[in-house]
Amino acid sequence: NPFVPGLLANIVGSPLDYSYKTEKNEKACLSSGGVCTWPRGRMLSGTGSFSGMLYTRPSPSIFDNWATRLGNKGWSSKEVLEFFKKSENNLNPDLIEKDQHGFAGPLTIQRFSSQPPFADDILKAAEALGYKGNDLSGSKPNGLNYVQGMVDQGIRASTARMYLGKKLNQTNLVVKLNAQVQKINFSGTKATGVTFKDLKTGEIVTVNVTKEDTSYLSSYCHSTNSSTNLFLTLVDFLVRTSCMVADPCYRSECKDNQKLLNATADHDDFIAKLTSIRTSRNTAFIDDLIKKYASIVGNAITGPLPCGRRRVGVRPNNMLPLSKGRLVLRSANPDDHPKLITNYLDNEQDAKVLLQGVRIAQRIMLSESLKKYDVQLVFMTSPSCAGYTKDSDDYWLCIIRQFTLAENHPTGTCKMGPASDPEAVVDDQLLVHGVENVRVADASVFPTQLNCNPISVVIMTAEKCAQMVLDKNKV
Ligand SMILES: Cc1cc2nc3c(=O)[nH]c(=O)nc-3n(C[C@H](O)[C@H](O)[C@H](O)COP(=O)(O)OP(=O)(O)OC[C@H]3O[C@@H](n4cnc5c(N)ncnc54)[C@H](O)[C@@H]3O)c2cc1C
Repeated sequence: NPFVPGLLANIVGSPLDYSYKTEKNEKACLSSGGVCTWPRGRMLSGTGSFSGMLYTRPSPSIFDNWATRLGNKGWSSKEVLEFFKKSENNLNPDLIEKDQHGFAGPLTIQRFSSQPPFADDILKAAEALGYKGNDLSGSKPNGLNYVQGMVDQGIRASTARMYLGKKLNQTNLVVKLNAQVQKINFSGTKATGVTFKDLKTGEIVTVNVTKEDTSYLSSYCHSTNSSTNLFLTLVDFLVRTSCMVADPCYRSECKDNQKLLNATADHDDFIAKLTSIRTSRNTAFIDDLIKKYASIVGNAITGPLPCGRRRVGVRPNNMLPLSKGRLVLRSANPDDHPKLITNYLDNEQDAKVLLQGVRIAQRIMLSESLKKYDVQLVFMTSPSCAGYTKDSDDYWLCIIRQFTLAENHPTGTCKMGPASDPEAVVDDQLLVHGVENVRVADASVFPTQLNCNPISVVIMTAEKCAQMVLDKNKV
């Protein structure tokens, strides 16, 4: 059930996931033959329905770059703020910069209910080393902190639930499930409607646009423009805790829901286990690592081992990689999975950023403040890395290329930009260049990567798009 936060790991890879795979990488994901998984949600709210629910926003400089340097009018940090606020109902006013947030929108944002003592101690250790966290959706997100999540009364606050759920009785709204769009129909440069397949009955249905200028279609935009990605590897530590009897169910290998919940138990509160997600207790953005290119997110993942030891995984993450990939259609058949040519870690610097993340994780986890937990680093092994001295930079760079994982934040396949930009697919009104009435409003339009989790920006973009359509129809 995608609504139960604690069961997140068991939805990825299920029939609710498109379960794409990347094309073969030469320099990453080598332990799995160069092929990485690419989970994408096939349900209302899309991938947002099995996301980690983390709600963070990028540095304002990201939007200012979109507006000033990349020529997208209306997208500066000051201009987009009203649309973030419009969507948000933040329930932790005392923990955030109040003027950066909304308190009356449909989307409930708050900290997860589980804040175990061990996570508190990690924050203290980080603070002692100069990584004190602030509002990770504020005016200058930085440092390590408890993250806020899209969670409402312990249940996933997906857009389907928080936006659509409240409007389902409206007579002017029809939500069609199991409808796979096959094509957009055109008359000249004007879209006249869409043709979709009912996946339950096999029926092919065409729906025409009835009102001019309101043809608003949001979906994947499969183009040949550049897309970028994030990637990470896990650095594991063993820490001592009181002896507990629990299954060593760790990471997403565990397909038994009860065991999965047990694995989150560094507290006894069953409700807290269900309503929180284990990957997201502490998150950090650490800017300016290498020539201001990099940020890092570390998520502490906890899972018990049977005899008083617990594994804590820290996930160093390159938020603004320099390597770029491409998404292209494999064929004209909409059932075929796209070709995801990701080129992970193609640029050497991207791997070095991850190495820096590994070192920061070590500094925090092996620091004086956490001594009481007797923390030990777990060395990952791979026959390909056997020739390197353990813990040397070369050893970690080898491990990073072996055990790369995508952080699942792809953007930019339908880049927003002026007509003069040869890579641009949509303009700053989100209208596809050369087409009169098709807008795209999803992560594909972001002209650059974000140094945050992207859903907040997807929702802001949708709010902004809705306003554009309303404004156009007023005239
Ligand atoms: C495991 C995982 C964890 C994540 N955790 C977080 C997190 O904690 N916080 C965060 O901010 N981000 C997270 N992300 C990233 C986030 O989920 C995505 O960036 C975001 O959902 C992208 O939104 P989107 O609207 O662009 O695409 P999607 O959410 O993927 O939505 C696309 C929609 O289009 C539909 N669609 C596609 N083709 C067709 C078609 N032909 N016909 C009809 N419908 C179609 C899909 O079914 C889907 O519903 C995570 C991603 C993954 C995979």
